[in-house]
Amino acid sequence: DLVRVTRALVSVSDKTGLVPFGQALAARGVEILSTGGSAQQLRDAGVPVTEVGDHTGFPEMMDGRVKTLHPKVHGGILARRDLDSHLAAMEAHGIPPIDLVVVNLYPFEATVARGAAFEDCVENIDIGGPAMIRSAAKNHGFVAVVTDAADYDAVLAELEANDGATTLALRRRLAAGAYARTAAYDSAISQWFAGQNGETFPARVTVAGSLRQTLRYGENPHQQAAFYVGGAGGRPGIATATQLQGKELSYNNLNDTDAAFELVAEFERPAVAIIKHANPCGVAEGDSLPDAYARALECDPVSAFGGIIAVNRTLDAATAEQIAKLFAEVVIAPDADGDARAFLAAKKNLRVLLTGAMPDPAAPGMTVRTVSGGFLFQDRDSGRISLPDLKVVTKRAPDDRELADLLFAFRVAKHVKSNAIVYAKAGATVGIGAGQMSRVDSSRIAAWKSADAAQAAGRAEAGTIGSVVASDAFFPFADGLLAAADAGATAIIQPGGSMRDGEVIAAADERGLAMVFTGMRHFRH
Ligand code: 5GP
Repeated sequence: DLVRVTRALVSVSDKTGLVPFGQALAARGVEILSTGGSAQQLRDAGVPVTEVGDHTGFPEMMDGRVKTLHPKVHGGILARRDLDSHLAAMEAHGIPPIDLVVVNLYPFEATVARGAAFEDCVENIDIGGPAMIRSAAKNHGFVAVVTDAADYDAVLAELEANDGATTLALRRRLAAGAYARTAAYDSAISQWFAGQNGETFPARVTVAGSLRQTLRYGENPHQQAAFYVGGAGGRPGIATATQLQGKELSYNNLNDTDAAFELVAEFERPAVAIIKHANPCGVAEGDSLPDAYARALECDPVSAFGGIIAVNRTLDAATAEQIAKLFAEVVIAPDADGDARAFLAAKKNLRVLLTGAMPDPAAPGMTVRTVSGGFLFQDRDSGRISLPDLKVVTKRAPDDRELADLLFAFRVAKHVKSNAIVYAKAGATVGIGAGQMSRVDSSRIAAWKSADAAQAAGRAEAGTIGSVVASDAFFPFADGLLAAADAGATAIIQPGGSMRDGEVIAAADERGLAMVFTGMRHFRH
């Protein structure tokens, strides 16, 4: 299965590493065919090349739209060397074999990313390149195809080890990578094209991504798992993070850390979120990170054990020192200063991720999740409620302190699994009820956890006394609201829109509660 490389076709837009690779091929006596820009660069470096136009007898034409689309090129790539009829056709038509194809494509994705005009993007759709890549990958029995400069060294190493020949194993690996590349390329083109046509949900979609790492296991040890990145448009977060220290990230770590970081990104002031199983068990904003951290932890210190901590500012030494006292799985921050890094370094197992920036919570984007036999696409929940959106529905209007906490609590509730009930006071959660099948249960659980935390800390009264409460969706009955009133909440924020809004508002008035409607629901499943 060794195939000696006598002739290579080189046509690359990204010319990284081209010259040394070409020199190494030439030094092995490989004849190099090449297109305009690539040929020029090789010649300038003293590498002997034959222009494809001289090889085929046809010049490059139509602004490069037609360069290599010729039977002498594609016949040389596609011919089976083990079939007499193919060899006879090569002989009859004067088609020399091409054993190595080195092509990377017009930078379509980068052209779109820099906001180029429609015509410019169209011109950057490569035609001959994908054709050669697909030809060479199809004929992997005899031809090696390189679509990524990162593979140049592997090819040279094989030629060195096998006296100028490639192995079938390498050619098959390169072929699989080649089809992945053309598939991703066409998927980017179709997605862009559909977008230009105003199609939000085109007739066919491809979810494209690149393997970041295989994971030890999935949600459970008997499930295999891997992390792919792509599609999010470079949104700062888990996919852009570098890991400073700590154990390998697990599937659950990645999922939970993503939830934590998206949550703290909601806040302008210094904010901290502590997450367990993708739900927060404490969130606070404050004048400083250490202040926010202390109050986030206070919400539910028992659950915070083994949690994931996200901050929305450069991590400072004082906060890092406090975090180092807790058993945490992951810390994620846009950055960390030198002293903070030193404190965390002492906790060798603690995974520390730095993203370089915070994501914009209001940015548009899509989310995908699988269902049996398909997947669901939707806009990401970039909805954000601010003061002018609120409608006071009770006799009493919330005061300024209550209003600030109501907005804070509703923003947190957006990131809590439904049914979500969030009690907050002075910019910190004081009780969170998540993921219950009935809203009144979430309300009760949040109050009960808050009372427990107060008792464990030796505080006289539960944090919910004098708090406000947010509900991610409307209260279908007055019971959930009454549970909140019993827990000591004084004001409520919820979307409104229930058939029984009248009953719920009457109950709030009767208990002297202030209530505002947002008109926006934040289910999260
Ligand atoms: P060069 O810089 O060598 O002039 O051009 C290299 C680029 O041309 C590569 O990205 C390659 O995929 C692309 N290419 C090669 N042949 C053709 C062709 O026949 N048509 C088009 N549109 N692109 C081609």
